[in-house]
Amino acid sequence: MLLNSDHSMKKHNFSAGPSILPKEVIIQAAESVLDINESGLSLLEISHRSKAFIDIMEEARSLVLELTKLNGKDYSVLFLQGGASTQFSMVPYNILSKKAAYLDTGSWSSKAIKEAKLFGEINEVASSKDSNYNYIPKNYKIPDNCDYFHCTSNNTIYGTQIRKFQSSKIPKVCDMSSDIFSRQLDFSKFDLIYAGAQKNLGPAGATIVIVKNSILGKSSRNIPSMMDYQTHINKSSLYNTPPVFSVYVSLLNMRWLKSNGGIKRLEEINTKKATILYSEIDINPHFKGYAKEEDRSIMNATFSLINDDFKETFDSMLKNAGIVGINGHRNIGGYRASMYNAMPIDSVKTLVEVMSELENKV
Ligand SMILES: *Cc1c(COP(=O)(O)O)cnc(C)c1O
Repeated sequence: MLLNSDHSMKKHNFSAGPSILPKEVIIQAAESVLDINESGLSLLEISHRSKAFIDIMEEARSLVLELTKLNGKDYSVLFLQGGASTQFSMVPYNILSKKAAYLDTGSWSSKAIKEAKLFGEINEVASSKDSNYNYIPKNYKIPDNCDYFHCTSNNTIYGTQIRKFQSSKIPKVCDMSSDIFSRQLDFSKFDLIYAGAQKNLGPAGATIVIVKNSILGKSSRNIPSMMDYQTHINKSSLYNTPPVFSVYVSLLNMRWLKSNGGIKRLEEINTKKATILYSEIDINPHFKGYAKEEDRSIMNATFSLINDDFKETFDSMLKNAGIVGINGHRNIGGYRASMYNAMPIDSVKTLVEVMSELENKV
C-alpha cells in the first residue's frame, strides 16, 4: 500500500529518477488505469487516436506553453520517446550543420557531446571535469560562429545547477531533464528545451521537447522521419503511437503544478527545502557538501559523511525513518537527496532530523 491510514505517503522518496510524484496524481492515475473518464475503458487500452487521448495530448501541450509562458511565441511542444538520451543525437541531427558549442558540466553533458561529434565539429567552450564536475564553469564565451550552444541546466548526478545563463547570438539548446518547471526562467531565451519526464514532470516513457519553429529546416541533411522534429510537429506528436500513460500522468502533474500556484510558487517551496537541507549539511560536523556552494542545485543535493565508519549507523537510521532513494550516484558516492516539485517539505525536515540525530548516536 502506498498510503498510511492518515493518507500520508509511506516513504520519503528522495530518488533521482524515476522519482516522486504528488500523491493526488498517483491516485488519479491509478483510477484512470481502471476507468478513464467513466468510459468503461482503461487508460491503458484506449486508442491514441481516440478523442479522449487527443484531448489529453492537446491539454498537455498547451499546459507546457502556459507554464513556460511561451504561448503565442512560435514554439512547438512535442511528447516523444527514447528519453533525453535520444535528444543527444536528435538535436544535432536536426540543427547541426557544421559546428556546435557545448558546455561540459557533467556526465549527461559529455554524453550529449559524444553524440554530437557524430554530426559535426564540437567546440567545448568549458568543462568542470578537472574537479569531477563539482562546479559550473563561468568564464567562457559562447562563439558566434556555431550553429547552436548546448548546456545542461541541472546536473542530476553532481548536484550543480546553472544560476545564470549567458546570452548569445546563436540558438540556445538546454537539457532541463532534472529541473524543468522547478524555477522561473525566461524560457523564451532558449530555442530548444528537452527533458525526460521521469524526474520532475511525470513517469518514465515520455520526453518533452519545446522547440522554436524558426530554427528548423536549415540543415541540408536527410533526416529519418522518426528523428525529424518536423515530422512530429506536423502530426502533433501523433505520427506514431506516443507513450499514452506517461503523457497522461505528466498532464495530471502539470494540472497539479498549476493548481498549486505554478512554477513561481513551487520555486519558493523548492528553495526553502534546499535551504533547510544545505544548512544542515553546513552546520553538522558529520557531513560535507559535494558541490561548490554558489552552484548548488535546489533539486539534487549531494553530500557525504566525513567519517565513513558511521555509514552503517546512518543508513539504518535512514531506513528506520522511511527515507529511501538517497544513495549517491556511483560516479561520486556519498548521498544524494533529490527534492523534486512533489517532495513535501516534511520529508526534507525528516531527513534533517535524522542527520542531526546522528550526533547523539556516535
Ligand atoms: C536523467 C537525465 C538524462 C537521461 O535521461 P533518459 O531519459 O534516461 O535518457 C539526461 N540528462 C539529464 C540532465 C538527466 O538528469
